[in-house]
Amino acid sequence: MSSIDHQLKYQQLKHYFGHDGFRALQEEAIDTILSQRDLLMILPTGGGKSLCYQLPALLLEGITIVISPLLALMHDQVQALQTAGIKAAMLSSMQNESEAKEIYRQLYNDELKLLYVSPERLNTSSFLQTINEMQISFFVIDEAHCVSEWGHEFRDDYRRLGTLKENFPNIPIAAFTATATQKVASDILTNLRLHNPHLIKGTIFRDNLFITATARQKNGHNQLIAFLNKHSNDAGIIYTLSRKNTETLATFLQEKGFSAKPYHAGLSTQEKNTTFQGFIHDTIQIVVATIAFGMGIDKSNIRFVVHMQLPKSIEGYYQEIGRAGRDGLESETLLLYSAQDSFQRERMADEMPEGPYKNNVLHKLKQMRDFAYAQSCRHQTIAAYFGDTIDTCQKKCDSCLAPEIEKEDITELAQKYLSTIYRLNQRFGKSYVTDVLTGQKNEKIVKFEHDKLSVYGIGKDETKTKWHLISDYLLEINALSRGDYKELLLTPSGIEILKGNQLVMINPQRLITTKSARKSKQTDTIELSFEDQHFETLRELRRDIALEKGIAPYMVFSDKTLKEMAHTLPTNKEEMLAVHGMGEVKYSRFGEAFLKLTQSFQ
Ligand code: ADP
Repeated sequence: MSSIDHQLKYQQLKHYFGHDGFRALQEEAIDTILSQRDLLMILPTGGGKSLCYQLPALLLEGITIVISPLLALMHDQVQALQTAGIKAAMLSSMQNESEAKEIYRQLYNDELKLLYVSPERLNTSSFLQTINEMQISFFVIDEAHCVSEWGHEFRDDYRRLGTLKENFPNIPIAAFTATATQKVASDILTNLRLHNPHLIKGTIFRDNLFITATARQKNGHNQLIAFLNKHSNDAGIIYTLSRKNTETLATFLQEKGFSAKPYHAGLSTQEKNTTFQGFIHDTIQIVVATIAFGMGIDKSNIRFVVHMQLPKSIEGYYQEIGRAGRDGLESETLLLYSAQDSFQRERMADEMPEGPYKNNVLHKLKQMRDFAYAQSCRHQTIAAYFGDTIDTCQKKCDSCLAPEIEKEDITELAQKYLSTIYRLNQRFGKSYVTDVLTGQKNEKIVKFEHDKLSVYGIGKDETKTKWHLISDYLLEINALSRGDYKELLLTPSGIEILKGNQLVMINPQRLITTKSARKSKQTDTIELSFEDQHFETLRELRRDIALEKGIAPYMVFSDKTLKEMAHTLPTNKEEMLAVHGMGEVKYSRFGEAFLKLTQSFQ
């Protein structure tokens, strides 16, 4: 590329996108596309993939066709591009005939630089014929992992994209995805028939995400509230397993004064849209959702993601937490798990026919469970899962921050628990075992004469809750298993513990009960610093503008831009243009209103 092109690249970057420089790997991807070579880029969510094809689309002659799996996602992207003064459009089933006609008119008159389409649309012969007559610069395949049956979001229409290379052998393809195991990556390369592709793989490490995974106490509500109190004005997603759970949890949070709404596939389209739009437009703070929510969601200021149960795979989990902090600002994720979750998921898998698919599901679940229970660096474990080697994060996860915890020896307690199970002939579940152990006198115990057993009441110095936590832990470390009727069974490892041949060590924090950890909702008024107050005022202006224009607030400016504005308080146009995310186009649309405010803050 000539030096003029090089200059132009930077000029356009600032002019249209407001950025002063490229992030890691962006320039390499852009140069690959500009040199007409096929590309597969694997970069975590928030890494800045869109720019990698949007900028070359502007620099190259002709039109760029972007294939994307979700209408909502396309819609947001196109709106954001148009807001930045770029000629982009989408063709979808959402448009009526006259709207579609208008887009075809623009297409024939070479008025567009980017056209977004769904894979279904692309695969139709009429559409293929239309674009056959155009000058196409390159094809973009977004969320490319959808072509792989090994991925977690396989789409049949994506697999058919393999024919693109047959129909357009000379047009380069650039494929992008956030999550790819080696298997998925090689599926993408073969299914799309990429020719001599350049492979760019970014590190999986998201250094602005703080990851915590901790044992859930009861239904986890108290832990959740303590977490949310640290994020009082922040936007976030809470994932939960069932539709019903999303509703009860959202109601619970509303009663506690949070702005929360449920979201699941069983709601009407209108309800779903209202919640989706409210969340995008910052009028709903929290969405409590099943995994039906969030794919491709393009909201850059999600500050937290919570999982109330163990997800089914690390891939899915990583994708979901990846929705937090796309703007690069500090964000937090919390996973609450219990032994119960993996049993429940295993039981769901039990229904599947035996075979490789079922084995794959169970294997992924086991990896997820190991991740939750592990005490090693969370980021490192995730990276290893995706075939990446990184140093420990040092300070971005609970494991790395935990002081070297002295483990407590609970072998004796474990032996009491296990011998009670043994004396009960391994025929009862957790509650009954605990009742006998703590010396309860209920009808059933008296009837079975279990109050006459030597183990009756030997555990009465500890609370029932503590015994339940010990029971869960013994299941976790595989000293116990469960039968078909939830009865507790001793495993070979449990027998070794009973015989005194094996110690049981635990992080003592795992045995702290909810009561001692409970924290009331903070009622103190928090003193905002001047900078925070300025940020809030700028946010209000952003919300007003977004409402007036009918676009999402982050399309006006990102949180990062507003934070920098609140910090530097520009006094004139020049200083305003120096702010991250402020290009000429954005300045001419919205800049002055913000400048008036920052001037007034002086
Ligand atoms: P991805 O598609 O990889 O998830 P996006 O393309 O949505 O990521 O980009 C995430 C965020 O990063 C956006 O808010 C975008 O404005 C910002 N961003 C992208 N490239 C740059 C850059 N070169 N400099 C600063 N911010 C950038």
